[in-house]
Amino acid sequence: GLTGNRGWAPHWRDPEPKAAYDAVIIGGGGHGLATAYYLAKNHGLTNIAVLEKGYIGGGNIGRNTTIVRANYFLPGNSEFYSHSLKLWEGLEEDLNYNVMHSQRGIINLFHSDGQRDAFVRRGNAMITQGDDAILLDREGVRQHLPYLDFENTRFPIYGGLYHPRGGTARHDAVAWGYARGADRRGVDLLQNCEVTGIDIENGAVCGVQTTRGAIRAKKVGIVVAGRSSQVAAMAGMRLPIESHVLQAFVTEGLKPCIDHVVTFGMGHFYISQSDKGGLVFGGDLDFYASYASRGNLPTAEHVMEAGMTLMPMIGQAKLLRSWGGIMDMTPDGSPIIDRTETDGLFIDCGWCYGGFKAVPASGYAFAHLMATGQHHETAAAFRFDRFRTGRGLLDEEGTGSQHN
Ligand code: FAD
Repeated sequence: GLTGNRGWAPHWRDPEPKAAYDAVIIGGGGHGLATAYYLAKNHGLTNIAVLEKGYIGGGNIGRNTTIVRANYFLPGNSEFYSHSLKLWEGLEEDLNYNVMHSQRGIINLFHSDGQRDAFVRRGNAMITQGDDAILLDREGVRQHLPYLDFENTRFPIYGGLYHPRGGTARHDAVAWGYARGADRRGVDLLQNCEVTGIDIENGAVCGVQTTRGAIRAKKVGIVVAGRSSQVAAMAGMRLPIESHVLQAFVTEGLKPCIDHVVTFGMGHFYISQSDKGGLVFGGDLDFYASYASRGNLPTAEHVMEAGMTLMPMIGQAKLLRSWGGIMDMTPDGSPIIDRTETDGLFIDCGWCYGGFKAVPASGYAFAHLMATGQHHETAAAFRFDRFRTGRGLLDEEGTGSQHN
């Protein structure tokens, strides 16, 4: 601001599309940009482009509530998110970009004996995977979160599962950091470039049609989150995915008062405080299929009620903004990183409401698959055919406020 923006170099180039690339990535969200970055960095593939129908960072990567954690339970998910958290821990150095990764700790509250048992099992799985988990009793929770309603609440707090390495990151900085890193390695980032068709000849992909002309490519990766079903349909595919709206809310800036990420075990509510001071919170899906990036008021009311039950003090804050994003929901709550029946066509989708934390490991694994044809060891379970055969389903959708 002090320089009036004069003389500031753009973070990335704004190139014209070439007629052909070795590979194109459809979708300039977190996962698409990370894929391009790791294709260039890890596999030396630089004659590639990211095709984004809007602008970099305009999708869910800039709409989420920024929670980063490695507290999954099932083998298949557990090693993947563990890898992702390790990549997060080195990301700022790797990208030379401040993504404001803040390991402030996540506390998942529990409110019954049954929930405590489930969280003990989850904590043990996290420790077995090499990640961190601490079981807090009620007094332990009180020491960390003294502002919760411990006395009059309808759902007494029994304790919490504390994951100290979990936390948050600045979501759009993650997009910008990966975008700049990819651009500097020669990747063309093509904005306002909507893919309108996928060209297939003799069972192999050979390019895409876009609003900026036809582009030939030997390999194509679909990474379009909430639009996955629509783009996959361009290649004749029907995905096991429904697109739903998830809302988020932010208050006016306040002095620091919530210094962890906290999730409510008995209602749809989770919260953290941004570095600007806003309380950032959300709940569950709106529960109707939609491609509109906005939600409805009953869900907003439901989320506020759950928040007020847990921490009545937030009723003092004024709500500034709310928004919605389109979630690509799979039946088992776990993602897909796989090749398709069309040679050279790959897909990375189904991140549901939890794909922000997955951005580094997803890009890493999808780049590995696109470059080598082999599944990366951390993402080998995310196969398409589990929905066809019923084998290898990873039923870990998360419940209510635990999902983000
Ligand atoms: P996007 O940023 O949506 O990228 C997809 C891109 O594809 C878009 O930019 C879109 O314009 C582009 N595209 C679509 N169609 C085309 C086309 N035909 N041609 C070219 N481009 C196209 N996850 C967490 O881990 N933690 C959280 O706390 C969390 N909270 C969330 C809260 C909310 C309110 C929302 C909405 C999501 C949340 N998520 C969270 C989920 C997470 O944001 C998503 O899973 C993840 O961002 C999806 O991947 P992406 O970043 O690549 O998506």
